[in-house]
Amino acid sequence: MKRDHFVPVAERCKEQIWRSGSWGHSGCSKRATRDGFCATHHPDAKKARLEKRDAAWKAKDAASRLRWAITAAESDVVAAALDWHSGRMAADDLQATIGKLVALKASR
Ligand SMILES: [Zn+2]
Repeated sequence: MKRDHFVPVAERCKEQIWRSGSWGHSGCSKRATRDGFCATHHPDAKKARLEKRDAAWKAKDAASRLRWAITAAESDVVAAALDWHSGRMAADDLQATIGKLVALKASR
C-alpha cells in the first residue's frame, strides 16, 4: 500500500483512528475524496460494510437454526416410528411427522 505522508492535513480524511502503541488518536492519513473522508472511512462505506456483515451473520444464523430444526425433527421421527411400532401412534401421525422433516430438508 502506498504510504501517503505528504497529504496536507487540511486535505486528509476526517476519520480518527485509535492506534495502540501510539499516543491516543491520530487521523487517517489518506486523502479525503468525498465529504471530507477517504473511500474507506466515508459513512456510506462504513454502513455498507456493516450491512454486509449483518447480512452474512443473519444468513449464518438462519442456516444454524435450520440445522437445529432438522436435528429436532429427526429425533421426532425416530420417536414417532418407535411409538408407531409399539402401536401407540397411528400411521397417519407418523407420516405427518416424517412430512415435517421432509419439508425442513427441502427448505435447505
Ligand atoms: Zn480515512
